[in-house]
Amino acid sequence: MKPKLAIFKIAVVFLFFLSSFAFAQETIDLVDVAALDSTIIIDLKYATADNFMGDTLYSANICLLRKDVAKRLIEVQKELQQMGLGLKVWDGYRPLAVQKKMWEKIPDSRYVANPAKGSNHNRGAAVDVTLVDKDGKELEMPTGFDDFTEKAGSNYPNVSERAKKNRELLKKVMINHGFKPIKSEWWHFNDKNIHDYPVLDVPLNILKMKAAKGMMAK
Ligand SMILES: [Zn+2]
Repeated sequence: MKPKLAIFKIAVVFLFFLSSFAFAQETIDLVDVAALDSTIIIDLKYATADNFMGDTLYSANICLLRKDVAKRLIEVQKELQQMGLGLKVWDGYRPLAVQKKMWEKIPDSRYVANPAKGSNHNRGAAVDVTLVDKDGKELEMPTGFDDFTEKAGSNYPNVSERAKKNRELLKKVMINHGFKPIKSEWWHFNDKNIHDYPVLDVPLNILKMKAAKGMMAK
């Protein structure tokens, strides 16, 4: 090997080592929603096999969101509690690697964001939620989670009066606190500042470990 090439190779290896070290030490601006507000019910469908993929996609059962997004979600919870209601969360931050697996199964951007662009879930700036009563029982909604039909549309008209009333209430309270509904899924809301947050691909088990060590945003 020529000496110049050897030096170059050593430098590349060294830089790689440095960047992985920095990555391990970095504080990530995501917070554990359950640790901030234990009254919000967390039921991550992708941390179980009870989802459209029929497979456990998450390496840990932890619901993470960007700090400001989580704060706004807690404001939503407080407003709902005044009505004797609360939130159940089906999804928050989702690693990009999981997005790629989903896209392989359903390459339809109405329901699954193209990983080439990234989902707002990959940014930790989108949340999938429904309403529960004071006993934690889900209120009637137009469909269940990940129903890939037009009935899941956030303005779809042909649903029962009660489902429509509950869907509209959820939408109203989320909008009050800076979330934006999307057309195709009544349960999905984007944070108003999604473009402030880059796509992330850190696995959930690593983030859970970081959270336990106090290495996440507070
Ligand atoms: Zn979603």
